[in-house]
Amino acid sequence: MHVHIVGNGSSGSGCWLSIKGWHWPLSVLMVREFGLPISALKGDLDRLYVERLLEMVRSSSLGAVVILAQDLVHDDAGRPLRDVGLFHVPNQYILDLARKHPEFLPAVSIHPARLDALEELEKCLAGGAVMMKCLPNCQNINCNDRRFTRFWERMAEAGLPLLAHTGGEHTLPVLRPDYAHPEILRLPLECGVTVIAAHSATKSGLFDPEYFHVFAEMTRRFPNLYGDNSAFNVPMRGRHTRKCLQEPLASRMLHGSDFPVPVHGHWSWLRGFLSWPEFRRWEKHPNILERDYQLKRAMGFPPESFTRVWSLLRQPQPAAR
Ligand SMILES: [Zn+2]
Repeated sequence: MHVHIVGNGSSGSGCWLSIKGWHWPLSVLMVREFGLPISALKGDLDRLYVERLLEMVRSSSLGAVVILAQDLVHDDAGRPLRDVGLFHVPNQYILDLARKHPEFLPAVSIHPARLDALEELEKCLAGGAVMMKCLPNCQNINCNDRRFTRFWERMAEAGLPLLAHTGGEHTLPVLRPDYAHPEILRLPLECGVTVIAAHSATKSGLFDPEYFHVFAEMTRRFPNLYGDNSAFNVPMRGRHTRKCLQEPLASRMLHGSDFPVPVHGHWSWLRGFLSWPEFRRWEKHPNILERDYQLKRAMGFPPESFTRVWSLLRQPQPAAR
């Protein structure tokens, strides 16, 4: 779960990428990690990205991956702010990709303040969406805004889970740092939506506030709250691995990738979550989806953490897929 699609619109997908300033070196790093030439960013990125990702899924231990759309940033009145985000991936593109490739399961992205939010939700449900993804702090979504109650209720009724970013973020521009707090997810949880706190609210940068304990406390209050271990193999996020492997949290943990964010086992090894032979064995594996999977297995994440998401995803009728 939690695999990003990126594109520049070269195939008519409607995707765009707007890499400015310090995001350039980061993007170059990600493209390299991915095994694509830097020129791909300005070339046929749509096709190259999807082909490479399919190759990686097919040659990995994973059966399928949940791929993510990325809605535009909107203001509180529901107007799109086109110049603010770093990238955009339309829902239709994700739904079409999933229809073509059984390796892909489509997670759409809808800003609930959009004037057509409910209409778009219905369209995505009819198109076979299995999940909804949003980043409250980057997309300016106050999930607790009472105006969104109907939207969350419809998601709950349709069995569409919400994957929401929690904790700091340093890959994308952040509009509302205060929305990184897991309490931002209270209203959808109260409406009965299955919510997955991406990164389990761990901090990303050294100076980010730490919300992991808030997330852990909330799992006691809300049986419909889960967390993913996406990007636990970057420097900061994996610090709480030990707690994630123990009950009561262990049965709420889901494997998340955050692909194409780079994956390295150094920090897990330094923290003693990974043995030296396991680290050496997987660190250089060329397929980063497989590397992440094997490192997480070696860190002690049980097989159920990789399959649990299947019971949470919306299972659309075959006609919609
Ligand atoms: Zn992500």
